[in-house]
Amino acid sequence: MAGIDIEGLATVYPNGVRAVDGLDLHVADGEFFALLGPSGCGKTTLLRTIAGLEAATEGTVRIDSADVTRLEPGKRGVAMVFQDYALFPHMNVSENITYPLKVRRVAPATRSGVATRTAGELSLQGLLERKPAQLSGGQQQRVALARAIASEGKVLLLDEPLSNLDARLRLEARTFLKKLQRDLGITTVFVTHDQAEALALADRIAVMDSGKLRQLGSPREVFARPSNTFVANFIGSTPMNLLPGKVTSESDISVVSVPGGSLPAATVSVPADAEVTVGIRPEYLTVASGDISGPALRGGVVVAENLGTQSLVTVDCDGTLVGVTVPEEAEPSPGSAVVLTAPATRVLLYDRESGELLARQPAPVA
Ligand code: ATP
Repeated sequence: MAGIDIEGLATVYPNGVRAVDGLDLHVADGEFFALLGPSGCGKTTLLRTIAGLEAATEGTVRIDSADVTRLEPGKRGVAMVFQDYALFPHMNVSENITYPLKVRRVAPATRSGVATRTAGELSLQGLLERKPAQLSGGQQQRVALARAIASEGKVLLLDEPLSNLDARLRLEARTFLKKLQRDLGITTVFVTHDQAEALALADRIAVMDSGKLRQLGSPREVFARPSNTFVANFIGSTPMNLLPGKVTSESDISVVSVPGGSLPAATVSVPADAEVTVGIRPEYLTVASGDISGPALRGGVVVAENLGTQSLVTVDCDGTLVGVTVPEEAEPSPGSAVVLTAPATRVLLYDRESGELLARQPAPVA
């Protein structure tokens, strides 16, 4: 088992693209760590640089405290699962799983023991004689994982491990992967562009943009308290409302005016009259009933979308559309007037220019 330390890392392709652009990152021993970001943000390049499949242009990569920056991939103690699994089509499952051991000239009897044990861990019993073409997508994915685990690397690197599976199988494989990682306790870094997958699986998430780190935190932190509007936009299955606002009173609980009314915000550092971007998740807004004396938003319901047990209601607040989720039985009808409220601790204030979260907003009580 081992941690990964990345310092000042940059990976520049021969065409001049700085795919990884000055990154510092620590992945703890045994951690399940997600690299998340939009297409082209550099997450695959970062994973491949950790593996040694791309050369670092600047900075260092340490695995288990040893500097591996200039080591070839085979000597770094990493096991990687590629997006397309890269199984050998002419080998059966058993041979695929134990291939890394064969390369290391491990005796056949030992190899066969490892194949049986690893196949058991990954629910592949009874399939050891089959060729990859005779397996489902989910089974192929588990063979690729089994091969990586059997190679006994110190860290496991997964490139979009679930993206080749259909939606239903992906959910099953997600649960399987989470349990397997917990049982094995192996330090694991996985790349995904799917924020829901990162939130569901990871202990911590690094959100990347243009080769740089935009936020590092637990799934709860990046969901509830994005440190900038880029992350706020990217995380969450319903997008965060980002509204133009102006702080109108400054105290422990500020009031910030936004289209359709005002909201409370727990901040002590933003001066009155400051122009800000106000971030509030649809999940943290409530449709109020009865008289409201404090800050609130007023608007008319435009449309309601069914999300299963909840509905996403779009409200027109003075020409600005605001999303709010409500329980399905409380769905207001289109055209009706509603009042929306939010707890001060859930209302985030961002700098209008830089998009960065304004300092000293206390974290919400969990
Ligand atoms: P995706 O989710 O689409 O795979 P990503 O976040 O993993 O994207 P990378 O594949 O790491 O991003 O690419 C980062 C940047 O580097 C992109 O601008 C891409 O076009 C560029 N790039 C990737 N591979 C190469 C290469 N071999 N040569 C030159 N540029 C490359």
